[in-house]
Amino acid sequence: MSNSTDFNEELDGYKKIDQYNPVQVDRIAAHYTDILSALGEDPNREGLLKTPERVAKALQFLTHGYDINAAEVLKSAMFEEDYSQMVVVKDIEVYSMCEHHMLPFFGKAHIAYIPNGHIVGLSKIPRIVDAFARRLQVQERLTNEIRDCIQETLNPAGVAVVLECKHMCMAMRGVQKQNSVTTTSAFTGAFQNDVTRSEFLRLITASLA
Ligand SMILES: [Zn+2]
Repeated sequence: MSNSTDFNEELDGYKKIDQYNPVQVDRIAAHYTDILSALGEDPNREGLLKTPERVAKALQFLTHGYDINAAEVLKSAMFEEDYSQMVVVKDIEVYSMCEHHMLPFFGKAHIAYIPNGHIVGLSKIPRIVDAFARRLQVQERLTNEIRDCIQETLNPAGVAVVLECKHMCMAMRGVQKQNSVTTTSAFTGAFQNDVTRSEFLRLITASLA
């Protein structure tokens, strides 16, 4: 069991590369110049001059999950091991964008699986959360996609995924419920059993302190 979700990108074999598709940046930026005008702003005032380009780059980063094959990420670090107790990675940071309003939702993911011959490098679990979160999403589908990817790739005896997120489309607009948290969950295999699921829920709510 691990409570740690931090991983050093260099040590893990990844380097953060700020790379943007220049054609896409130009195309998105042109639309944002229009949007600024439509909002009644002057796109030529100093503070806004580079805003369309910044937004275009930010959006590309916030949706870079489209370019990540989550199953391949898991397969790159699967190891045979006859450990068959629950493996829990909790408090994984989640940053995503709701597809209905294109506003952020963010919070924590708690994920467990029960190995069935194979384990996976622990840092890969947050990586696949990111692969699915960095797209336009709804929290419900995000939860299921993470579960299905682990189940189909690792073929464990069970997978459990719980997501707790705040949605800016609820907090900043509409009902303006600023502190409400949406919880979603998805289970397979052994976690459909009450006892196993309760143990998982106890582990993710327990504090180690
Ligand atoms: Zn929304």
